[in-house]
Formats: sequence, structure tokens, C-alpha cells
Amino acid sequence: DRPPVTVIGLGAMGRALAGAFLDNGHPTTVWNRTAGKGGELTERGATEAATVTEAIAASRIVVLCVLDYDAVRDVLGAPGAQGASGAPGADGAVGADGADGVASVADILDILDTPGTPGTPGTPGTSGTVTGVLAGRTLVNLTNGTPRQARELARWVSEQGADYLDGGIMAVPPMIGTPGSLVLCSGSPEAFTAHERTLSATGTVSYLGEDAGRASLYDIALLSAMYGMFGGFFHAIAMVGSEKVPATEFTPLVVSWLNAMITGLPAMAKAYDTDDHSAAASNLRMQADAFVNLLDASGDQGVSAELLEPMGTLLHRGVAANLGGGDISALIDLLRTDLAGA
Ligand code: NDP
Repeated sequence: DRPPVTVIGLGAMGRALAGAFLDNGHPTTVWNRTAGKGGELTERGATEAATVTEAIAASRIVVLCVLDYDAVRDVLGAPGAQGASGAPGADGAVGADGADGVASVADILDILDTPGTPGTPGTPGTSGTVTGVLAGRTLVNLTNGTPRQARELARWVSEQGADYLDGGIMAVPPMIGTPGSLVLCSGSPEAFTAHERTLSATGTVSYLGEDAGRASLYDIALLSAMYGMFGGFFHAIAMVGSEKVPATEFTPLVVSWLNAMITGLPAMAKAYDTDDHSAAASNLRMQADAFVNLLDASGDQGVSAELLEPMGTLLHRGVAANLGGGDISALIDLLRTDLAGA
């Protein structure tokens, strides 16, 4: 009774997604630009389509997971495509092999519990490379991209008479299909309602409303937080490494320190939402002064301060903007170039 699913793109992530649909009993059709990547999946019962059009025609729900939006446009023949569809390409598989270390999805979901609103149905459109066959189907694009790219693609897909869902995968391939995998999803509410059960084969799916760009916005924001954390960790390890302290010896301290600091984020978020940064246990001016020590010590230890310098600059901008007496959460507004001069 499980509906057929098509998966386009058999990189590390596409293969994991197709495997999850197979595991859940969905008749699964796959297609990849470079043929021959469906081997293990076809052994498990997947059908490898000869063309992308044939792949799309096989299911009402078409999951697309390729490298980037240039690849998406190549596959769909959508406007703005760069490079010829079908050209052989390098396989830069980036699948990680570890699935541990990811925070509780339930915690993230508590925050993401955003109800959807009704949307407008797709309008009939023209036919092009694959466009004729797209009509009446739902395209679920799980390729990483920007909110603007997602919204532009949503518009184009809708012009083809198809529904569009965009997704951000907050997981690495080995996690797909487990509850620890979080897929952020936004776009057509009707399509989400129709396909929620199917999509949940990939893990925990969270719907963020009808704006196709919202899932990408959250995805990019979460990745930004992650890279900030990685940057801090890399600098810390380089610092102690400069005196031959093994990273494995120091890292448990980093983990407990970051866990302690993470508990302060909700208060900062509240300060940002209410625009009241007055409650500061450690005020911004003090932190700007102390931050100089981080930069000086890095120089002394022979460690590049390139990851830290932007925070130092921002702290000093905060002092110059007379925010020194409050909490450093006041710095968030300084990042908003759209507010500059407002
Ligand atoms: P891979 O590098 O393993 O695979 C890339 C896929 O894109 C291949 O199927 C490749 O086809 C295809 N592709 C690239 N360029 C084109 C093109 N011009 N036309 C058609 N197909 C093309 O990447 P992943 O599978 O790991 O990642 C896929 C998406 O998932 C990315 O957007 C990534 O950011 C996202 N993601 C990945 C995660 C991960 O940990 N791997 C985590 C979360 C999101 P071919 O085989 O022919 O080269």
C-alpha cells in the first residue's frame, strides 16, 4: 500500500534516501546522471530508469537530491542551467561515516513547531525538457541551497503545474531513516499533507509552512551555528596543540564548557526578541577588553586568529555603538545589514 517514490541523484545522500524508501516498502525508481550508481539499490528492488523523464513519470512524488542548484537546473532543464545535462562529472562523495554527536531531534522540533498555512495550488504551465511530465506531481527538492534559490525553483515548478516542497536535511547519510535524522520541509501544504507519511521514511520530518524558502533559511541558519561552533573548537585545539596538549585530552573540557555556555542561548534569544539587552552578567565592554587577550595569546602561541578576529571586530563595533553596558546579544542586530542606518 506504500506509494511509489522516485529518487533523482544517487550521491551519498540520494542513495541513503532511496534506501530508506525501499526499507519502508515503497516501490522506488532511481536515476542518476552517471549511470551505474543504482547497483546496490536495484539489488534491493529499486528500478533504475533509463532517462530522467522516465524516472519522473514513475511516481507522483519525485525526490531530488543532487549537489547544488546548478545540478538541479541541469536535471530539470529549468532556466538558468549551466552545463549540459548528461555530461559526466566527478563524484565528490562527501558522506560522513559517523552518525554520532547529533543533538536530540526532539529538542529541535520543540522549537520548530510552526503550523502551516493554506497555500495556492500550482498553475498549469508549459512543457520543456522534463516539464511536461512534471505536471500533477510533487517535486521534493532536498538539495542544499539558499532561500532565494528555493523560492525561484518553487515558482518555476508551480508554472509546470506541479507542487513543490523544499527540504533541508539535518543529518548525514548513515542517519537517514532513523528518528535522529531531521528533515526540515516547507512549501505546498497540500503536497505536504499528501506525502508526509512517505517522507517520514527518511526520518523525522518537520513542516515549516508554505514559504518554500523557509526550510532552507532554517537549514542555513543551523549550519551557520554549527560552523561557528566548529571554528571555536578548531581554534581551541590549535591553541592547546601549540603546547603539545593532545586534542583528545582537552576535548572533554571543551564539550562540557560549550554545554554550559549553550544554556545561555535562550536568554540571549529573549533579549533579541524583546530588544532588551540590559540584563548582562558579563557586559559587552568587559568582553571586548578581554577579547584582546584571545588575539594576543593566539599570536604568542603561533596560532592564526583568523577565526576569532571577526568576533573581536564586532565586539568593538558594539562598544563604539554604545552597547557596552549591556549583554553581547546586542551584537546580533549589528549583523543585520538590512537594519543598518535604520
Ligand atoms: P555527492 O557529492 O555524494 O553526490 C552529488 C550528486 O549530485 C551525484 O548524484 C551527482 O551525479 C549529482 N550531480 C552533480 N552535478 C550534477 C549535474 N550537473 N547534473 C546532474 N547531477 C549532478 O553529494 P551528496 O549526495 O552527499 O549531497 C547531495 C545534497 O545533499 C547536497 O546538496 C548536499 O549539500 C546535501 N546534504 C548532504 C549531506 C551529507 O552529509 N552528505 C548532509 C545534508 C545535506 P554524478 O554521480 O553523475 O556525479
